[in-house]
Amino acid sequence: MMKKIKKEDFLDYLKNWGKIVEIEEGIDVKDLFLPKEEIYLVFHKKKDSVEQDEFRNIERKVVFNIPPCYAKSIELLDFNFLREPLDSFYKERRDSILVVVKACRNPHNFCFCTSLGNSPFDRKGDIFIFEKDGYYFAEPLTDRAKEVLAWDKYEDVSQDEFKEVELEKQKVEKEIEKFDIVNLDKKLYSVFNDKIWKELSFRCVNCGACTFHCPVCYCFDIQDVDRTNWGYRERVWDSCMFSIYSYETSGHNPRAERHARMRNRIMHKFAYYPVSYKEYQCVGCGKCVEVCPTGFDIREALLRLKEVVNE
Ligand code: SF4
Ligand code: SF4
Repeated sequence: MMKKIKKEDFLDYLKNWGKIVEIEEGIDVKDLFLPKEEIYLVFHKKKDSVEQDEFRNIERKVVFNIPPCYAKSIELLDFNFLREPLDSFYKERRDSILVVVKACRNPHNFCFCTSLGNSPFDRKGDIFIFEKDGYYFAEPLTDRAKEVLAWDKYEDVSQDEFKEVELEKQKVEKEIEKFDIVNLDKKLYSVFNDKIWKELSFRCVNCGACTFHCPVCYCFDIQDVDRTNWGYRERVWDSCMFSIYSYETSGHNPRAERHARMRNRIMHKFAYYPVSYKEYQCVGCGKCVEVCPTGFDIREALLRLKEVVNE
């Protein structure tokens, strides 16, 4: 049940849980859960030995105002990093973050979340909120959220107020471009060797911006950095759009050509990933469209692929 809580009261409770990080323009949500650089270990070389540092100090955070599409992307990252074998670095950070999701009332021109079965009002994360006249209508969705405050002492959102939330949801959903890609995942295999991939990748310069800004892309590399008396091992973001990403030590590169890299990016999101997780590896946030320097639009690519698989 949704509760009606004064904004300042609600924020006071959250501050007790952890440091509030408000999501606004310029804050990279993925970086909070899967940092661009994450140190695995630090070592110091001594005369006859090597000593390892205790260096991790993870602070509790409340990530506040996450839009539902980004909350969905965290669920998809969880599928990957919390399955066996569990990624303990990811889990430690994930457990230290309380996710407060805010209804998205101002979708932009690049959004297409509804085409992928999502909604800008999806109740996700630990707590879902809707802002109204100095109050939050808030709903706890996980056990730890239930412990953040004494929910019972707050009044329920009235039926009229609840109706208002539903009407706003319908209004916002109508503003978002919606198209149909039902069953595209199964059909994509039939066009694996089609010339469509050359057409789609024609304007791509393999800068990797789409993958770095995508909240769901999680390709990474492990690097060892060796200094004179010390060194460290770290995980850093990588991108399947880079030409050397799949370069093998033998000298062979299975995705040396640009169209093969574009095909891999789209097939991974819309064909391979659904086999393992029964979900597309895309939340329809449109960030890749917004940042591509050459105007590649994944929505146009999906619609073009739909035409080709049905020819
Ligand atoms: S729209 Fe683009 S950036 Fe957003 S999840 Fe899908 S592929 Fe990633
Ligand atoms: S952002 Fe655009 S140009 Fe850069 S790799 Fe992605 S699709 Fe290619």
